Amino acid sequence: MLTSLCGTVHAHKINPLQDKYKQDSRAITRGISEPVHEEITQLARACQQAHPGPVASPLVCTDRTVRIKTPEGNKYDSLVRGVWWNDDPNQLLFTKPWKWLAWMDDAENIARSNRNWKGRAATIDASYYLTYRSHYGDLQFIHSMASANGEPARRTQQNILAWAEFTYAAATGSLDMETTINTAAPQQLQPYFSQQSGWTTNYLFAPRYRLKTADHNRLMAAGSLLHMVQDSYSAAHTRRAYDASPSCLAGRVVQFHSYIDQDPKKHATADRRQAWADHTFTAQQDPVNVSATLLAYIAQRAPWETVEAYLRDTVFCVDESAEDAGAGEYLVVSAEGAVP
Ligand SMILES: [Zn+2]
Repeated sequence: MLTSLCGTVHAHKINPLQDKYKQDSRAITRGISEPVHEEITQLARACQQAHPGPVASPLVCTDRTVRIKTPEGNKYDSLVRGVWWNDDPNQLLFTKPWKWLAWMDDAENIARSNRNWKGRAATIDASYYLTYRSHYGDLQFIHSMASANGEPARRTQQNILAWAEFTYAAATGSLDMETTINTAAPQQLQPYFSQQSGWTTNYLFAPRYRLKTADHNRLMAAGSLLHMVQDSYSAAHTRRAYDASPSCLAGRVVQFHSYIDQDPKKHATADRRQAWADHTFTAQQDPVNVSATLLAYIAQRAPWETVEAYLRDTVFCVDESAEDAGAGEYLVVSAEGAVP
C-alpha cells in the first residue's frame, strides 16, 4: 500500500501534504515529492514586487535567490493555496489524502478501461468530481494539457485562454465572486459547468475550506492561473520550441500533451524540481518570469485584452506547425509493448 501510495503521490508530483495541517503527515511525502509550484510562485512574487510600476513589457528577473513567503507558512498563503487548487479542486488533501489517492486511481482506471472501481462501465463526463475531470477528463486544460489525444492545439489554447480570462476576472475583481460559474464569462467556459449550475465562483475555489481574509478567493483564482501557466513549461505537459517563427516571435507550443495515455511516473519525472532546474528557458519563456508578469498585470488591473494578447501571442503561441495532442514520449507502454 505504501509503495502504491508513494508511487501515486510521486506520480502526480504535487506535494500534497507539505506544510499543510498535519505536521506528522509530512513524513509520508518527504523525499518523494517536491514543492515546485510553490517555489516558482514565491520567486515570481519577489520578481513582481521588485517591479511595482506599470507593465511596459514582460518582466525578466534573473535573481533566483529571493523568494517572498508568507511567514506563517503556505497554508496561510492564499496565492499558494490557489496554486494547489488545480491539483486538488475538491480540497481533499487537507484532511482526506487517502480519498484523493483513491479518486486518482479510479480516474486513471476509468480513463484507460472505461471501468470504475466497482467494475462498472463508466466515462468521466461533466457530472464527475473536478478532481477526476481535471486530471483525466475534459478539464485537463487547467494543467495546460489537452483533454483528449488528437485534440487540435488551437482548441487546447482556446480552452486555456478561456480559463485564464475567467480566473483573471476573478483575481482582479472585475467578476462578482457570487456569479455562478455556468453564467460567468467567457461563454466558451460555460458548457463545462452545465452540471454545476448552482456553484458560485466563491464556492468553486473554496468548496470545503477557506481563509478568512477578504481577498482569499480572488488570490485563489490568481493562483489557479499561475498553476496552469507554470505547468505549461513542463515537458510532460507541452512540447515547446524556443526559436522565433513568423507568427510566434518568442517561441511556441508545438504540441500539447494529454495525460490519458501517459505513464504517471514518466510524467512526474518531468515535473520534478530537477527537471525544471535543468531546463533551459528563454527570458520570455520562463515560468518564473511569466508568473511574475501575470502577477504584475493583476496588481495593475491591466485590461484583459492586454493580458490575452500576451498569453495568446507569447506564452501559449501556436502556429501552423502545431501538432494535434498526444502523450508524447511519456506514453504508457505495457509489457507487450502496447498501450493498455
Ligand atoms: Zn497541474
